[in-house]
Amino acid sequence: MTARTVLLLVLDGISDRPCPDLNGKTPLQAAATPLLDRLATQGVCGIMDTIGPGIRPGSDTSHLSLLGYPPERYYTGRGPLEAEGCGIHMEKGMIGFRGNYATLGKDGTILDRRAGRIHETWELSAAIQQGVDLSLFGITFGFCSGAGHRAALALKGEGLGPEVSSNDPKREGVVPPVVRPCTDRKADRKTADACNEFVRQSHEILEDHPLNRTRVSRGEPPANIVLIRGAGEMGYFESFEERYHLRGSVIAAATLITGIGKVVGLRHVPVAGATGSVDTNLKGKIAAAVRELEQQDFVLLNIKGADEAAHDGNARVKKQFIERIDASLSPLLELSDCLLVVCGDHSTPCTIRDHSADPVPLLLHGEGVRVDSVQRFDEFSCAQGGLHRLPGLSLMPIVLDLINKAHKYGA
Ligand code: ZN
Ligand code: ZN
Repeated sequence: MTARTVLLLVLDGISDRPCPDLNGKTPLQAAATPLLDRLATQGVCGIMDTIGPGIRPGSDTSHLSLLGYPPERYYTGRGPLEAEGCGIHMEKGMIGFRGNYATLGKDGTILDRRAGRIHETWELSAAIQQGVDLSLFGITFGFCSGAGHRAALALKGEGLGPEVSSNDPKREGVVPPVVRPCTDRKADRKTADACNEFVRQSHEILEDHPLNRTRVSRGEPPANIVLIRGAGEMGYFESFEERYHLRGSVIAAATLITGIGKVVGLRHVPVAGATGSVDTNLKGKIAAAVRELEQQDFVLLNIKGADEAAHDGNARVKKQFIERIDASLSPLLELSDCLLVVCGDHSTPCTIRDHSADPVPLLLHGEGVRVDSVQRFDEFSCAQGGLHRLPGLSLMPIVLDLINKAHKYGA
């Protein structure tokens, strides 16, 4: 018997370095994790360099690597992936940007880069989508709200280049710069001109929008300008189904991860109350994954909160959230026929408040795995495991082999 389905559970930024706040333990070591430990005891463990030794991964590049898409070949920047994740269907050659609503003062400077952390911007985005006209450039566009003050823009048309700067001044009290081409190529100049026109027209629409007038009358900062950044050209992604003959779903709160799932053809399954923070609806996400596995061959489930706590440098909150994750996992122990893969996408040490190149723990649980002697799911115990130390691109081949879908190399 071999497992039939695969659940790839990515605990975002789960691994760490020794933390002074936890008596020199990592949050994963310090946390009580009886269920993860049981899975480790019954499974095979190892550590993984999701991209390569010494390379600090972003969440985007590491997820591409875990899914078997070499980031150096497929990654063209965060913009196109965010745009796809926000609900814009990205086609090859389109230029994607991440963006956010901000407040522009009467003096032309940015008063608030997040427009008072506005949420519910759907009406504004719809007005921009309807009102802005870039036909002068021969360009059509998609513009969508993301979570909170976030949004995404994508441009479609002939002769567009991705090498352009941002209009986000990255701080308040200054005038937003115009978008500039980063090369002297005509294509990049065209994109920059279209971006500036987009910003100008959308600003006019936003200034007059009833929602913003109401905000101003209430003393709230209006969301009257769109800041865009992270330009990238959408590439071609062979779908998961073509590549592995697996049909799959993605469950993630972060639009970046949703976008990665969608560009490789995974079905996006929204979950109410999934926030990407430590207050997320863990039960709902796990239940959705279990439900999807009844229909699909593969589910990518990303849980983000630990990464966020580590970016805030908060080792205790990270440890507590890990304990909450563990307590929510019991439905996974009931899965039959499933190869369960648990790993991080990168380490996020609380001491550096950013991602590091330290390898992540990895655990495989299911029919046929060569159970090793590891009894705890943490950075140090997993380093003693039977999988030793793997590159992230080896994960999918190992998974395919275990579910009997690998091709034989040779006779
Ligand atoms: Zn991450
Ligand atoms: Zn992070």
